[in-house]
Amino acid sequence: MNARDRYPQLEIDLGKLKENLTALRERCQDSFVGIIGVVKGVNAWDCAVRVYDEMGFPYLASSRVDQLRKMREMGVKTPLMLIRIPMLSELPDLVSLADASLQSDLDTIRATNAEAARQGKKHGVLLMIDLGDLREGFWSAEELVDAAVEVERELDCLELLGVGVNFNCYGSIKPDKRNMQGLVSLAHDVETAIGRELRFVSGGASTSTYMLLDGTLPYRVNCLRLGEIGLLGETDFASPEFLHKDVFTFRMQVVECRDKPSHPVGQLSTDAFHRTRTYVDRGIRRRALCAAGRVDYGDCFDLKPRMEGVEILGASSDHTILDVEAVKDKIKVGDILEFDVNYPSMVNLTNTPGVFLVSKE
Ligand SMILES: *Cc1c(COP(=O)(O)O)cnc(C)c1O
Repeated sequence: MNARDRYPQLEIDLGKLKENLTALRERCQDSFVGIIGVVKGVNAWDCAVRVYDEMGFPYLASSRVDQLRKMREMGVKTPLMLIRIPMLSELPDLVSLADASLQSDLDTIRATNAEAARQGKKHGVLLMIDLGDLREGFWSAEELVDAAVEVERELDCLELLGVGVNFNCYGSIKPDKRNMQGLVSLAHDVETAIGRELRFVSGGASTSTYMLLDGTLPYRVNCLRLGEIGLLGETDFASPEFLHKDVFTFRMQVVECRDKPSHPVGQLSTDAFHRTRTYVDRGIRRRALCAAGRVDYGDCFDLKPRMEGVEILGASSDHTILDVEAVKDKIKVGDILEFDVNYPSMVNLTNTPGVFLVSKE
């Protein structure tokens, strides 16, 4: 049996992915914005990475060095960027595998320079600024400018590529005109201090796309780091009609289908994950059991059944339980049911060895 007949299965439609990335590239080009293509959402899935690699983006990026290694070994021709602040313990790998990284700590920056010198390489640096989301980034403008000047003048094996910011990661802060202007003004301070223009002023991730589309992204912001919007066709604040929302299809096989009570029978205690739950008694209903569970995708409510009338009730590690009363004539043991995924379930499914990954052109 090939992977196409095996389940649970996640299928990627490479044609739709290519159309999404091409459409985003076109919109970005119209606003002179370069895209850093982020592939961590699919664990640098090789067939998806090849589509990204054909786009001519300035960089492809992941938050994990092991994914960058996989991309190197695939022979990706686009330069690679690590978009997590590197650990001191991974600098040798970082410098040998990646062309650039996001940085926010001066000691790490100096150590990266030393490692680049040791390997006889030049490594690009994008300095991160924290404008309120409280994940990575310099908090003080003075510290940022001092670090930029040091990278520019003293750290010979580093190249200062620009500055960047993150939103909607920890602090749930929405990108808007005000914080984007803050980024532009800090970029200007850095440019004044080093006496030249920066190549990248990077205004965040997919959640900043809405500003590009509605024309409110400041002109000086010329780079976005995009993962989710290209892969899933939508993200917070943006769900443009020109993007496919069904690049991915998740499939599970039905292993049991019969009428049962909707309320558990006996003394209620806790479920498989030690949670106390409540159950609504809707009488006897047709239920379908599928052979994939939380180990595969995380939270079952992150999946959306494609067949109308199918309702997700819950899941344990290896089973998903569906109410199929509304479509009881249509479902039997052995059937394959299809689901849409969202960002968390896509990340989980592409990182789980028990899921068969298949692609279509
Ligand atoms: C994950 C990540 C991105 C991409 O995020 P999406 O929401 O998938 O577009 C961009 N920048 C950084 C620093 C990230 O960690």
